[in-house]
Amino acid sequence: MSSIPLIIIGGGPAGYTAAIYAARAGLHPVLYEGPNPGGQLTITGEVENYPGYRNGVTGPAMMEDFQAQAERFGTVVKTGTVVKVDFAAYPRRLTLDSSVELLVQSVIIAAGASAKWLGLPAEKRLYGRGVSACAICDGFFFKDKTVVVVGGGDTAAEESLYLAKLCQKVHLLVRKDQMRASKIMQERVFKNANIQISFQTEVQDIIGQTQVEAIKVIHTASKKTTAIAAAGLFVAIGHQPNSLPFLPYIAVDPQGYIQTKPGTTQTNIPGVFAAGDIQDPHYRQAVTAAGTGCMAALEAERFLQQPFGSF
Ligand code: NDP
Repeated sequence: MSSIPLIIIGGGPAGYTAAIYAARAGLHPVLYEGPNPGGQLTITGEVENYPGYRNGVTGPAMMEDFQAQAERFGTVVKTGTVVKVDFAAYPRRLTLDSSVELLVQSVIIAAGASAKWLGLPAEKRLYGRGVSACAICDGFFFKDKTVVVVGGGDTAAEESLYLAKLCQKVHLLVRKDQMRASKIMQERVFKNANIQISFQTEVQDIIGQTQVEAIKVIHTASKKTTAIAAAGLFVAIGHQPNSLPFLPYIAVDPQGYIQTKPGTTQTNIPGVFAAGDIQDPHYRQAVTAAGTGCMAALEAERFLQQPFGSF
């Protein structure tokens, strides 16, 4: 079996940016899109903060543009999820969900991260109709309205602070009697008069048929239930990097984010690079993902120019 010079795993902004750069460099990349082609952006409404789109763009339209640009330079786009890797040998070996095996000289892992959800049936039904996992993406649609944020970590604190600037009122629901967020973030939240925190409070249900109308909550200490009238529910209970298939070989942090050499996209395995949300617990923006995708392609190009063993 002959080996492919470069496989890009993931069809979000990081993967497609890597593909554009690699294709223009003549590396003939093959990009595999997973179960959510286009990545998290395709489940966002309007994207207004990606430079170059002066009037904004929908997430799916933007990802179509990314794909068309990558294909214009010869990227081959395929569908398939990588379920297993063997990075001990060279060329590297990838196994797809279709059981197809690929031999590759270099890999860019840009498989993204997935928001964690509460697991309520109404959450799926009302996704994009008031339920969101990204305040920066969707907060603007709740201008001057009341919203609920769930979570007690830095993401929930950050989302609450962002929404507090736009919304009439933000209810922050924390399931424990304290937040997990860093002290400085907690202080900012506590000081913000527009944020009302309820501790030991969990979401029981989301009320509304076609739009979020209210959030039914339970105070776990008193067992008292109540409904908070709100137009939006922001679930901020963490993200899960999609790094599972790579774990036997690739070094990750305690949350599962792929670790890269500072200032690069190089993982602990030579010729294997990581870009986008799978290696970024902090920024998680399309533009930062695209930036690391570009870095990964340039680094892969450099890697492929050297004889194996010289790195
Ligand atoms: P975390 O894992 O830190 O926090 C998740 C929060 O959600 C916890 O408070 C947890 O509660 C709560 N939670 C989990 N499941 C549920 C549930 N089913 N119902 C209700 N609440 C739930 O995730 P974050 O995304 O907040 O942060 C991830 C990492 O990214 C952290 O290391 C964080 O510091 C970092 N980060 C840093 C930022 C910054 O520096 N500006 C901004 C954003 C993130 P419990 O505490 O009870 O487990």
